[in-house]
Amino acid sequence: MIPYGRQDIRPEDIEAVVETLQSDYLTQGPKIPEFEAAVAKAAGAPHCVAANSATSALHIACRALDLGPGDLMWTSPITFVASANVGHLCGADVDFVDIEPGTFNLSATALADKLAQAKKAGRLPKIIMPVHMCGQSADMDAIGSLAREFGISVIEDASHAIGGRFGNRPVGDCQHSDITVFSFHPVKIVTTAEGGAATTQDPRLAQRMELFRSHGVTRDETLYEGASHGPWYYQQVELGLNYRMTDLQAALGVAQMARLDEYVARRNALADRYDRLLGDLPLDRPERLDRAYSAFHLYVIRVDGARRRQVFDHLRANGIGANVHYIPVHTQPYWRRFGFDDGQFPVAENYYARAISIPLYPTMSEDDQDTVVRVLTEALA
Ligand SMILES: *Cc1c(COP(=O)(O)O)cnc(C)c1O
Repeated sequence: MIPYGRQDIRPEDIEAVVETLQSDYLTQGPKIPEFEAAVAKAAGAPHCVAANSATSALHIACRALDLGPGDLMWTSPITFVASANVGHLCGADVDFVDIEPGTFNLSATALADKLAQAKKAGRLPKIIMPVHMCGQSADMDAIGSLAREFGISVIEDASHAIGGRFGNRPVGDCQHSDITVFSFHPVKIVTTAEGGAATTQDPRLAQRMELFRSHGVTRDETLYEGASHGPWYYQQVELGLNYRMTDLQAALGVAQMARLDEYVARRNALADRYDRLLGDLPLDRPERLDRAYSAFHLYVIRVDGARRRQVFDHLRANGIGANVHYIPVHTQPYWRRFGFDDGQFPVAENYYARAISIPLYPTMSEDDQDTVVRVLTEALA
């Protein structure tokens, strides 16, 4: 089976993890700040907070921005469920903004319309969470300027997009957002097995995310209410959880981050090659924005909706690990309980009816890619 994605583990990764296993710290040691510095540097942001998953990082990002009961968060319906879930976990209401048909990213035009209506109705969102689908940045110039106009915070779910750029700025520099979150799950661009990180330009947000990552407990005296009892003292000043990454994971992450540019370049070379090889087939290729350099986590084609199942089955039956990203979140049973229904976000639903993710990962050979193209050609014949 040629999978849709897979990790690349090299001897230096294994050495880095073994070295940490033999060191004094399995967690909360020196590898965490080293990994955070590597992510901050790649993202072009001054602060980075690592966590045990992107879901955790999204959750502490929402908490740091004070999302709570009575508040509203908007995200894209075409994302992994975690993007929406963290809003509900904070007690907020969640709603969605439809996508652009070509890039599958939250549409700035749809956002502008929905914001105008929300303003009239007197219920603006506190947070907007665009998702950089497949690794290509959403239009952050437009989304950022709308957010500023309406006084709304922005969290970028960049789980797919580390190493990508938008208008010559790295994804994650938070030029047009408060916080950007990355995922290091094995199918993503670089991996820590499980892991995530949040970048920000705001030291106060970074400090609050660190608090929520670790029980709301601090040893920083400047955050204390009242005096310290002595050198053993710590204070709980917020309600938090244990969302910490281990040093084993961070050691793997540091080794992987050294190859970030190589991985993204390879993904782009394979995506360019797909663009050429698939040019004559009856399918839609992903739209590429001139302003964006995608990290190419996924390569999604769209076929005739009436034939999607047959094409998908043919791929799977012939050793191609095709997949579908994503089932629109608002159509999931959990979200239907809150009144969401089919037909509410038609561009997203039409996308879902036609989408197939085909294999793309940095160690994929051109031979494997040719096999994917051959089987896909048969399926569409
Ligand atoms: C993978 C992913 C997540 C969750 O990441 P984890 O690290 O598995 O928690 C969230 N949002 C999107 C868009 C993702 O692809």
